[in-house]
Amino acid sequence: MHAPRNENEARPEVVYLDNNATTCVAPEVFEAMVPFLTQYYGNPSSAYSFGKLVEGHLIQAREKVAALVGATAKEIIFTSCGTESDNAAIWSALQTTGKRHIVTTQVEHSAIMNQTDRLEMMGFGVTRLPVQPDGTLNLADVENAIRDDTAIVSIMWANNETGVIFPVEEIAAICKKKGVLFHTDAVQTPGKIDLRHVAKSDINFLSMSGHKLHAPKGVGVLYAKKRTKVLPYVIGGGQERGKRGGTENVASIVGLGRAAELALERLSEEQTRVRALRDHFEETLLQRLPHLYINGKRDQRLPNTSNIAFDFVEAEAILMRLDRKGICASSGSACTTGSLDPSHVLSAMGLTPARARSCVRFSFSHYNRDADIDHALEVIPPMIEELRAMSPLGPEHTDNFAYDVTAAREKEEKLMAQTMAAINE
Ligand code: PLP
Repeated sequence: MHAPRNENEARPEVVYLDNNATTCVAPEVFEAMVPFLTQYYGNPSSAYSFGKLVEGHLIQAREKVAALVGATAKEIIFTSCGTESDNAAIWSALQTTGKRHIVTTQVEHSAIMNQTDRLEMMGFGVTRLPVQPDGTLNLADVENAIRDDTAIVSIMWANNETGVIFPVEEIAAICKKKGVLFHTDAVQTPGKIDLRHVAKSDINFLSMSGHKLHAPKGVGVLYAKKRTKVLPYVIGGGQERGKRGGTENVASIVGLGRAAELALERLSEEQTRVRALRDHFEETLLQRLPHLYINGKRDQRLPNTSNIAFDFVEAEAILMRLDRKGICASSGSACTTGSLDPSHVLSAMGLTPARARSCVRFSFSHYNRDADIDHALEVIPPMIEELRAMSPLGPEHTDNFAYDVTAAREKEEKLMAQTMAAINE
């Protein structure tokens, strides 16, 4: 809706605070892509020079992406998205080892959650590790969950809802000691965490996605460590050194190469300016409003992510009102499917269903300015006060908040059932 801004530009109509959902394409990225959508449309696998020229740019992009994780170009496989990279890593491990058990966590993205659910239905074994109330993992649980028939351990680097970071390099070392492959879904990390030591670690597979780091949607990366066997998930031509069939999405890959360079250049800014924006946002809200909780271990989170419980208010009501004020944020709940289920991540952390349904995620980026945060801070406190004043779950119910909300929801569901029955009669 709005182009990325220069330093001094005023606040645009839309204040985008949902950068963990997707990000704007950086102008530099767009510029790098255009020639490959217009002039240089050759197929990189073609033998003539018009194709070879394109292949040369593909090689350069591969090197730039490899630099992000301190790897060599040969360890980079381009895919269509983070989801495909996740699915491909798990599938390859099952195929190459012939083993039938996977260890993962209860807080993974649906790319892993739903794939492992499906694998379980197909007869594979899956262990889903719990997390602590602050969203962190107990490393002993990982070690204890590994069995003789474990093919792979897959644990995300940072959680997309809370930003909580897992010690994946330590986990990878445990897996190596036990002779098991390790995959990490690192989709939320480039440009936020320094990944340049990945290739020196014991991580076998790592997933990334273009649209989370200011490259376009529809391009992903699977890093596969040297000497880790890879069988293609998408089977076709011999592209990507036989590890992923399908003609490469050249323009997006070139864009991703540029985005990888920018992510490295801006890493320290993310860890200072963007972190300061996030911290100021949280501190101000905590000062202005009672009954607010920050989810996830505060000093073990991505610098750009804030997940806040606004007790006594439904996140959906907050999001609708924020939308009317031009502010984009999101809730981890499965609201898009029309389900009333609270977020699986927050539930795994032990939040009551009522509190989990009151949580909103704000995620910031390089393109957010002080004016965006000021606007959000101007809008949110009176909005929450107003919603709380209207809520039947007001602060006077603090002690039995969960009980009251459950009762209210049951009543609501009963009413809905009665209405539906009346309609169907
Ligand atoms: N993994 C995580 C942690 C994510 O946050 C996302 C996207 O939200 C994905 C995987 C999926 O990436 P993509 O949208 O590129 O398929």
